[in-house]
Amino acid sequence: MVKLYNTLSRKKEEFVPLGKTVTMYSCGPTVYNYAHIGNMRAYIFMDSVRRALKYNGYKIKGVMNITDVGHLLSDGDEGEDKMAKASREQQKSVYEIAEMYTKAFMDDLNKLNIGKPEIIAKATEHIDDMLNYVVKLVDLGYGYETSDGIYFDIAKFPTYGKLSGLNLDNQIAGARVDVNDEKRHPADFALWKKAPKEHIMQWPSPWGMGYPGWHIECSAMSKKYLGDRFDIHTGGVDHIPVHHENEIAQSEALEGHQTVNYWMHGEFMQVDGGKMSKSLGNTYTVADLEAKGYSPMVFRYFCLNTHYRKTLNFTFAAMDAAKTAYTRLLSAINEHRNGKAETPKETLAKYEKDFTDAISDDINIPLALGVLWNMLKEPASKQIYELVQKFDTVFGLRLDTLPQEEKIEVPDEVAELADKRLEARKNKDWALSDALRDQIAALGYTVVDKKDGYDIKKN
Ligand code: AMP
Ligand code: ZN
Repeated sequence: MVKLYNTLSRKKEEFVPLGKTVTMYSCGPTVYNYAHIGNMRAYIFMDSVRRALKYNGYKIKGVMNITDVGHLLSDGDEGEDKMAKASREQQKSVYEIAEMYTKAFMDDLNKLNIGKPEIIAKATEHIDDMLNYVVKLVDLGYGYETSDGIYFDIAKFPTYGKLSGLNLDNQIAGARVDVNDEKRHPADFALWKKAPKEHIMQWPSPWGMGYPGWHIECSAMSKKYLGDRFDIHTGGVDHIPVHHENEIAQSEALEGHQTVNYWMHGEFMQVDGGKMSKSLGNTYTVADLEAKGYSPMVFRYFCLNTHYRKTLNFTFAAMDAAKTAYTRLLSAINEHRNGKAETPKETLAKYEKDFTDAISDDINIPLALGVLWNMLKEPASKQIYELVQKFDTVFGLRLDTLPQEEKIEVPDEVAELADKRLEARKNKDWALSDALRDQIAALGYTVVDKKDGYDIKKN
């Protein structure tokens, strides 16, 4: 039995899907910039949920949106569109911006071995779906027009706030002074915005030219691909108080019933115990980590060691520890690759049960990693190696990698000597080749010759 923590009920619940295929929607990136490692933690979490369910025999139909319009600088309805701002600052069209960062995001997913959801849906390709949705909400009496857009009337939706458990009055008291005095209620939010002439992205609507609000995107696309009821909705904890409350309001107002059964949220990543922010210069990307000698798998390993509902503090000291541990892990697994021992069936079954119990208990990957480490202490056997690979369908840590294949930082000096040595070997100058090998060894490295080149290992 799989149990999942449901933000809506604030409890771990038994997971009972609606049908044979699990339907799952995940809030995706706004493609106005490179995703940082905090963002990537959110998608590693999504991936862990998908992988753990698949391990338990479920098929999955997953949808993830790509926000390429409508996400304003504040999660409320104020400020410039994030895409438009990036376009202005980077002197590229919004479509170029979207394409560039969508590609970068997909590359990061690949590097981190994050399985892509079955359907990736771009907001700009679903404008009609969103417009129809807004028109229906207005017809049902949930939307009203102001001079700058169409707003959702939360007074008509009495359970507003049920996901975050926030009392609306408190929420409003805490909110900053609202600049839009045409709204009936300060927490009313934009379904559709009217576009000023100079606005870059705009489409015709019954209310003139305009563009969709951010929240309607997820309601419209989840309905289109998953229907009016689906199993799981994931996102980051930052989505709970506004974005997901608004999604619930829109979807339930339209359908007249609950649309999502399990709401799951990944906790945030901090850097050095604080917030990640551009001004602090600590919004690292996967590429930044690679440049510092930490492979994407080391970052993934680092993330998997903390449960998704706990805050994870990123530090370079912790990354060093993750790097050492991941390298040790690959070595320990490699011992089993050609192990000669026979592991009793009951022993294997026990580890498999412990592993399954861990991942089925609200995706407890850290506990499952503990099971893995314990199992590796058994006498080296091929059966254990095979079971590790089975577990790795959930970890996604590429545990079949040979230890030396995991990239190491090679000083320029060593790389140059190794290149010279390759040249010497091509010229069949064995004496020079041997001398260079010794020089490399003196610097603490070993060159391992391969057919078309070499590998370098740290001694
Ligand atoms: P955005 O592209 O800003 O819409 O964010 C993409 C995803 O990253 C969302 O699911 C956010 O909840 C998540 N996210 C943003 N910042 C962090 C962080 N520091 N740690 C973890 N997740 C984050
Ligand atoms: Zn969303």
